[in-house]
This record gives sequence, structure tokens and C-alpha cells, in this order.
Amino acid sequence: MEQKEYSRRKFIHQCAGSGAALLGTLFLFNSCGGNEKPAEPAAKKEAADKPADPCSDFSGVSAEELDKRKNLGYVDQSTVPGNSCGNCGLYIPPANDTECGRCLLFKGPVRAEGHCVQYVAKTT
Ligand code: SF4
Repeated sequence: MEQKEYSRRKFIHQCAGSGAALLGTLFLFNSCGGNEKPAEPAAKKEAADKPADPCSDFSGVSAEELDKRKNLGYVDQSTVPGNSCGNCGLYIPPANDTECGRCLLFKGPVRAEGHCVQYVAKTT
């Protein structure tokens, strides 16, 4: 009988010790930042803070309009000296810094430095 009570006492003592060890481990894990999200990489954070380039935003531009642009040979950077969208008669300049220019011939962003085969020198 005495042997049995000793075993019960020992069992309870071991359980209490294991519980304390578990609580201690959880406390350490929590205080070491185990629940915190990992820090965002600096380059990714900078990209998120910086406004997107409006001339790279093709959302809402249909595949048909993208084909028109392609078929006219539009390029973002003109290779013809003195001829670019910025001095083309069909160019619509952006209203502010958050917009990109446009063209009368197709929808979507057009860069002032761009060019296509329909270039028409501005007369005014
Ligand atoms: S017609 Fe061509 S060159 Fe002129 S603004 Fe449009 S895309 Fe640019």
C-alpha cells in the first residue's frame, strides 16, 4: 500500500514538473517573437510605397486594343530621331503625374518617348 501511494505521489510530481516545463517553453517561444510576422524585405516595402508606373498599367485594356497597338508597331522608345509620341499630332498628353499619355488610334497607356508607324508631326 505504501509502495502504491509513493507511485501516485511520484506520478503527480512528474506531471506537475512536465506542465511547468511546457509552460516555460511556451513563455520563451512567445517572448522570442514566435507570433510575430517576419519583417518585410526592404526592397519589397519600397516597391509597395512607390506609386506604380501609370505607363505600365494595362488593366482594363482589351486584347483587341493591345493587338491594334502591336499592329501599328508601337514601341515605348522611339528609334527615329526627332519623332516620338510626345511631338505627334495624335498624342494626348497626361493630365498629371499619376497618368500616362494616350493615343487617338488605340486605348491604353502611351509614353511620350514612344513611337509607331502612324506618326504625324504636330502642326501647332
Ligand atoms: S500615332 Fe503613333 S506616334 Fe503618334 S501618338 Fe499614337 S502611338 Fe505615338
